[in-house]
Amino acid sequence: MDPTKTTLVELRDAIAAKKVSATEATRAYLGRIDRHNGPLHAYHETYADRALQRAADVDGGKITGPLAGVPISIKDNLCTEYGHTTCSSKMLENFQAPYTATAVVKLEQAGAIVLGKTVLDEFAMGSSTENSAFGPARNPWDTQRVPGGSSGGAAAAIAADLCAGSIGSDTGGSIRQPAALCGVVGLKPTYGRVSRYGLVAFASSLDQIGPLTHTVADAALMLQVISGQDPKDSTSAGVPVPDYTEQLDSPPQGLRIGIAKQYLSDANHPAVKRAIDQAVAVYRDAGARIVDVDLPHTEYGISTYYLVAPAEASSNLARYDGVRYGRRSPESTDLISLYSRSRAEGFGEEVQRRIMLGTYALSSGYYDAYYVRALKVRRLIKQDFDAAFESCDAILCPTTPGPAFRFGEKTDSPLAMYLNDVYTVNANMAGIPGISLLGGFASPDGLSHTDGGGLPVGVQFLGPLFEEAKLLRIARLYEAAAGYTHARPSLT
Ligand code: GLN
Repeated sequence: MDPTKTTLVELRDAIAAKKVSATEATRAYLGRIDRHNGPLHAYHETYADRALQRAADVDGGKITGPLAGVPISIKDNLCTEYGHTTCSSKMLENFQAPYTATAVVKLEQAGAIVLGKTVLDEFAMGSSTENSAFGPARNPWDTQRVPGGSSGGAAAAIAADLCAGSIGSDTGGSIRQPAALCGVVGLKPTYGRVSRYGLVAFASSLDQIGPLTHTVADAALMLQVISGQDPKDSTSAGVPVPDYTEQLDSPPQGLRIGIAKQYLSDANHPAVKRAIDQAVAVYRDAGARIVDVDLPHTEYGISTYYLVAPAEASSNLARYDGVRYGRRSPESTDLISLYSRSRAEGFGEEVQRRIMLGTYALSSGYYDAYYVRALKVRRLIKQDFDAAFESCDAILCPTTPGPAFRFGEKTDSPLAMYLNDVYTVNANMAGIPGISLLGGFASPDGLSHTDGGGLPVGVQFLGPLFEEAKLLRIARLYEAAAGYTHARPSLT
C-alpha cells in the first residue's frame, strides 16, 4: 500500500496490522514533502530525524497508542520543545519554546509522529496565509490561489497528502475556512474542549485547537486524543469526553437539520448554493426534518468579532516587548525605542493593524462604546444559537461565501478579507463546535460543476456546546452520501 494515499484511520490500522511499518509511512510522507513542499510551502520546518527516530520506536514496540506511527503536522503556533515556534512572524523567528503544548503532548503520547510545523498567517491573523512573514502557503488545487487561513499550511498539507492528519487553531474560522478552500475536513471543537496550553494566544476567549483531516472518522479520532480537561488551562472544561469514534455510521434518530436564511445570501457563489441544496437533499432522503431557524444577529458578527478579537490580541501581544523573548531590535538606544523598534520590526502590517484596532477599542472613552458593546452583541449572538438549537440538532450552512481567491485579490482591502469570515466567526463567539466538509467544486469562471474539476467549496455544520459526538455523526451521514472523500488535487 502507498501510506500517503489513505486516510488516517486506515493508515493507523495498517501500521497496527504490520501491513506497513511506521518507518515506511514516515519516509513516504517525508519524500512527498521533499517533492512538493517547494511549490506549496505548506511546511515552515520539518523534523525528519526526530520523526524517523520515533517511527523506529513505534516499529520496535517502544511507542504504542491509538495513533501509533501516524505521521501528522502541527500549526506553527503550537509550542514544542524541539524546533522553532514562529507563528510565521519575524517576532518569533528564532523562538524555541521551553515546553510543549498539551495537545501535541497528547498526540505524541498516542503515538503520532510530528513531521513538522505548518505555515499560518502571522499570529493566526488572516484568512489566506498572505500575512505570513515567511511567504504564504499555496492551494494544492490551484497554486495561483490562497489555501485560506490562518491554518492554510495545515489545510494544504492535508489536501496534498503531505501528512495523514493535521492540527490547527480556530479563532474566527482558521480551521474551517482553509479546510473548505482546500477541500478537506476541518473541525473547531467547543471552546474548552481542548486545552489551549502551549497554543500561542491570539484571542483567548475565542481560540480553540482542532484537527484538519481527510475524513470525519479521522477528525473524530484526533479529537478523541486531544480532548479533555487540563490543569494547565483553567478554561479547559471538566466535561467528560465521550467516545467520538463510536457509532459514527449510525445517524441520530429523529434528526432535525436547521437552515438559517441569514447564511443563504444571494452573494454566495453558485457552487456554494448548490452544495447546500445537495446537502439538504441528503438529509431529506435520510428522513431528517429540515427546519427553518432564525439567527437574527448574524449580520453583526463580523463587526463584533473584529472588535473582540483585536482587543484580546492587543493585550496578548503586549508581551512581545523585546525584553523577555522574541525579537529585540539591535538599533534601540533606550527603553522606549527598544519597545517601539522591536515591535515595529517584528510585527507585520496586519498584526500592527489589529493591535491598533484593539488598543483603540479598549482605550478609556471608547471602551464602553466599542468593547463593552461588542460583548453585549456577542451575548445576543450566543442567545440566537441557544434558541435555534431548541428546534434543531445542527445548523447546515456554507463555510465561506465562495471558493479560494487569488493571491493579492483581497490584500488591498482588509475589510474584503474580513468578510470572508462571515460564516465562521459566530461559532467562536458563541463557543459552539463547527465542522467543514468538502461540499462540491466550482470552476474558476464562476460556473459550478460536479465532475470533480475546479476548486473545492465547503459545507459547514454547527452544533450545540459539547455535542461534537452528535455533530460528527451528522457530518458523517453527509460525507457518506456525498462521496467526495477520495477527491484529491493533481500535483505536477
Ligand atoms: N480570519 C480570521 C481573522 O483573521 C480568523 C483567524 C483565526 O481563526 N485564527 O481573525
